[in-house]
Amino acid sequence: MSECAPYAASSAASRGRRYREPPPRNRSEFQRDRDRIIHSTAFRRLEYKTQVFVNHEGDLFRTRLTHSLEVAQIGRSVARSLRLDEDLTEAIALAHDFGHTPFGHAGQDALNRCMRAYGGFEHNLQSLRVVDVLEQRYAAFDGLNLTFETREGILKHCSRKNARMLGEIGERFLRGGQPSLEAQIANLADEIAYNNHDVDDGLRSGLLLLEELAEVRLFRRHMKAALRNFPRLTGRRLIHETVRRMIDMLVTDLVAHAGRNLRLHRPTSIADVRNAPSLVGFSSAVEKLHLDLKQFLREKLYRHYRVARMSAKARRIVSDLFGAFLTDPRLMPPEFQARATDDAPRAIADYVAGMTDRYAILEHRRLFAIESN
Ligand code: MG
Repeated sequence: MSECAPYAASSAASRGRRYREPPPRNRSEFQRDRDRIIHSTAFRRLEYKTQVFVNHEGDLFRTRLTHSLEVAQIGRSVARSLRLDEDLTEAIALAHDFGHTPFGHAGQDALNRCMRAYGGFEHNLQSLRVVDVLEQRYAAFDGLNLTFETREGILKHCSRKNARMLGEIGERFLRGGQPSLEAQIANLADEIAYNNHDVDDGLRSGLLLLEELAEVRLFRRHMKAALRNFPRLTGRRLIHETVRRMIDMLVTDLVAHAGRNLRLHRPTSIADVRNAPSLVGFSSAVEKLHLDLKQFLREKLYRHYRVARMSAKARRIVSDLFGAFLTDPRLMPPEFQARATDDAPRAIADYVAGMTDRYAILEHRRLFAIESN
């Protein structure tokens, strides 16, 4: 790897792991984090968790696994262009959705509602909880024992109330500081990835129409550019040629704008980065285009009646499961029952949040359909 910039996160100068371990031999600390994330159970679960479309709707839609790989791909190329630590960016990208419930936002809203009287449920905080506590693979500690920098990036948002209970990892939310540039990149790479793949999945599913998307400036501009080069292009190839141009423009703008911010603020260390305003973002013109598209997706895709029906079912499944386990924690598998003796609602939230879409559907059937077992 070429030399990183002085404001990059440094594996050698990491703020370390919660439990001391001998340094890795042939890889950096951040590479080790990335590798632990890939070998985790939570990572494999991403394959059967969805954001907008549920698995059984088709084999070609994004899952949280393919989404996270796209975030990692975009994140790595931005990090490399800015001479930042690619491995850290990748580690954060691959773990950023670990805390998501089954069925995307609908599931998370339902679980948050169920948990209202018991401290609530935040998916970002849950992602941290997965890597800090819930993964149980190592003899000497719970969790994956990741570096501070990876954990800081995974905890993208956090309420002040929860931040106060988290110690040093929550501090920046109380004093308004920033995480590393690598974490800032992973965050924006997430937005670029889902905006663009939701366009693609929305068209594939027939919930969005090309004519509607042609009303959105960002899409129209790049569809026209694709048609200028290939006037007879139609169908999936036209969509792909448009989407790849949109991603390219957003990434190029992000790199250029972050470069300008870095020249303006001249951070000389990660400490400077943590004290500066957020330095990774789009230029204001591109930010507008990006937000337009986001708004369009919210109205036309996320609120589409067919998505709303699926979301209503998802909320019902999650609340039914939570309710059944709260009434009788003995309905849970033994390991979660054991944890329920301390804090039953939290143990139930952990169990439900960890479910994949299909597991939640199956578990619901087992608990509520008399003919199942
Ligand atoms: Mg994401």
